[in-house]
Amino acid sequence: MLRLYDTRSRQVEAIVPEGSRGLRMYTCGPTVYRYSHVGNLRSYLLSDLIRRVSERNGLRVAVCQNITDVGHLVDDAEIDSSGEDKILAQARKEERSALEIARFYEDAFRADTGALNMRPPEYTPRAAETIDLMIELIAKLIEKGHAYAVPDGSVFFDATSFPTYGEISGNRLDQLKPGHRIEGVDARKRFHADWALWKHADREMTWDTPWGRGFPGWHLECSAMSLRFLGEHIDVHTGGIDLRFPHHEDERAQSNSAAGHDVVRHWVHGEHLLFDGRKMAKSTGNVVLLSDVTDAGLDPLAVRLALLEHRYRQQMNLTWETLRAADRTLRRWRTRVAEWAEAPSRPMSADHVARAQAALDDDLDTPLALRIIRELERDESQPPGARLEAFLHLDQMLALDLSREIGRAPAAASLPGGAAELLQERARAREASDWATADRLRDELAALGVKVADTPEGQVATREG
Ligand code: AMP
Ligand code: ZN
Repeated sequence: MLRLYDTRSRQVEAIVPEGSRGLRMYTCGPTVYRYSHVGNLRSYLLSDLIRRVSERNGLRVAVCQNITDVGHLVDDAEIDSSGEDKILAQARKEERSALEIARFYEDAFRADTGALNMRPPEYTPRAAETIDLMIELIAKLIEKGHAYAVPDGSVFFDATSFPTYGEISGNRLDQLKPGHRIEGVDARKRFHADWALWKHADREMTWDTPWGRGFPGWHLECSAMSLRFLGEHIDVHTGGIDLRFPHHEDERAQSNSAAGHDVVRHWVHGEHLLFDGRKMAKSTGNVVLLSDVTDAGLDPLAVRLALLEHRYRQQMNLTWETLRAADRTLRRWRTRVAEWAEAPSRPMSADHVARAQAALDDDLDTPLALRIIRELERDESQPPGARLEAFLHLDQMLALDLSREIGRAPAAASLPGGAAELLQERARAREASDWATADRLRDELAALGVKVADTPEGQVATREG
């Protein structure tokens, strides 16, 4: 059974879904105004790992990850963020519409997470398409006395109506100082730490409501979407560590006040990725994108492997050397797996697999699981077929495409001299639809004892006899 560090209880706890239903997990998704950097991707990887390990434990998993395409304002470290909408600001900069920006970066996000073998969530609601849910939630919070509308058409959450505010981050209301804004405390608020659920505005990306025209607060969006798509009992909620406060505190206050009980059982946070010793962030200027990694000739999954070398709740410093090393390891493992696949299959090495699975169950100890895999790689007492099966089994959780070279890599070393060149030449001939040459090369390969089969994935070479 999977155990995870719960930020709120400050201890490692067993993740047991309520009743017999599957695991329900909410993951704070991207604000789609720019490319995700590999630090962001580290946070999203956390929920993919929880999913994969839980599924291997026999659980059904349903994940909801929002797409924020409106309402995320610039100073999101403040309890009530203000300033410009991140998407509208980017739209102006790129001279495109807000919708174009949002869709463009949403597509880029899907491509990046796909390249890292993250399984698509079951639900990926967009904030701008679920405004009705938010309006409903605000109405409920007003009705229950947790929120109040002000004359300009904005609605605020009454922070003092939620006594356990601060349990996740330790930022209790009585310790929160009024913001440092130049304009001082917002006169519309009853209490300085109240935050807006609905913000009055009349511009692009605003909607009419019973209170006035405007747009939703970012924290409210996650409450509305999680309650609608996963219900009032959510097993795990993940996000990067910086989201503990105010985003998750505010979300918890809203969701619990609406439901009348604790909605989220476990809050789980991923630590930051550093680069050159500092938190990777656009504002710091040390951002590495997945495209930078592939432009450098590395496999995108080298990023996944490099991230797995550290446990999710430890800070991790990334370097180009770590990425290159991960790329080399990946290639070596795939070649070995392809070689082992030519040996007879044998029952997988149970001891190694059990230990690696136990490591993953133990608060996602991926570095230990990888050490066990390296140990197995070198363990000559294990038949190749047994190592193959163990690698393939564990790859269901690691998702490093370790089987990619099976049958494809003409296991260069195991083919007779000259065959690799002939195969390359034949691949080029086939690409040029030069069938006569392709046939002649097939005969030449046969003379060397190499049989070639043409498959939809390309030619597959095997040694005859
Ligand atoms: P944002 O697009 O800024 O809302 O961030 C998306 C996700 O990435 C959030 O879960 C953040 O907590 C997370 N995040 C931002 N910077 C980093 C970083 N350097 N390392 C790990 N996670 C990060
Ligand atoms: Zn969120």
